[in-house]
Amino acid sequence: MNDNPSRRRFLAQSAFALAGVFAAAQRRGLAQPRGRGAERMRLVLLGTAGGPTPKLTRAAPAQVILHHGAAYVVDCGNGVARQLRLAGVSLRSIRHVFITHHHSDHNADYGNLLLLAWASDLTTPVDSWGPPPLAKMTRLFLDMNETDIKVRMADEGRPALAPLVRPHEISQAGVVLRDGDLTITCARVHHPLIESAFAYRFDSPARSIVISGDTSPSPSLVALARNADVLVHEVLYLPAVEKIIAGSPNPEALRKHLLDSHTPLDQVGRIAAEANVKTLVLSHFTPGEATEVADEVWRQGAQAHFKGEVIVGKDLMEI
Ligand SMILES: [Zn+2]
Ligand SMILES: [Zn+2]
Repeated sequence: MNDNPSRRRFLAQSAFALAGVFAAAQRRGLAQPRGRGAERMRLVLLGTAGGPTPKLTRAAPAQVILHHGAAYVVDCGNGVARQLRLAGVSLRSIRHVFITHHHSDHNADYGNLLLLAWASDLTTPVDSWGPPPLAKMTRLFLDMNETDIKVRMADEGRPALAPLVRPHEISQAGVVLRDGDLTITCARVHHPLIESAFAYRFDSPARSIVISGDTSPSPSLVALARNADVLVHEVLYLPAVEKIIAGSPNPEALRKHLLDSHTPLDQVGRIAAEANVKTLVLSHFTPGEATEVADEVWRQGAQAHFKGEVIVGKDLMEI
């Protein structure tokens, strides 16, 4: 290792910069457990934009649930590994990865997250869960990155990556897995033209959290979210649709996709009320830039039909 004074100075500066990021996160109430006990299942929104186009003000869809020292990542939009680091989550702590559906805003960094976690000293198995063809995608990703993996195994003494990654394809609603005192269930939601899209529910003794993924208003999502403490739900602001489709190569097709497969703001509150959840968290915003629609517009739109707590999601917000 090159431990000269200039390198030490660089490291000190880097550490100082990182400390600043964490201090800022802590001032905003982030990256810290809320409530009295660390055993309380924590939820951090990692990326809250909807859609595959990279945004300036929000990261791509992803969230992490932290329970008993293990990280359960739900969706892997572009940049998920760095968002986890910014949230103060060690990539070594990733235990399960869940993909709601195979749109690139939700899976673009599925393989990258595994590869970068491994390059960050992940040595324990990770189970991944999602619709087909998750197993094939995993296999192809490992093939594509064979050069890097082999070199790092030889150069850095790392274990093989493939045996650490265990993909499981989900084809029906129900219990996905039981992991200690945590039960994870899923429901099939309506998100054409995607054939298999799932929402996930995490139940711990202290708390229940539901992540909608992408969906039009779905009775199955309402049933999954029944009496949950927290529902993270995608949301579409209808007045913005014409502007969003204006630059598209096929505006009519994009309008149809947006209206058929996502949930308008005025419907989200009704869904939360029908499911009788305590807290509704808006996320996966369309349009995705935080500057395009004011927080108050989102909040009031949801509150029109829901009397519980409404949170307008932000990247790295802990709930
Ligand atoms: Zn999406
Ligand atoms: Zn989608």
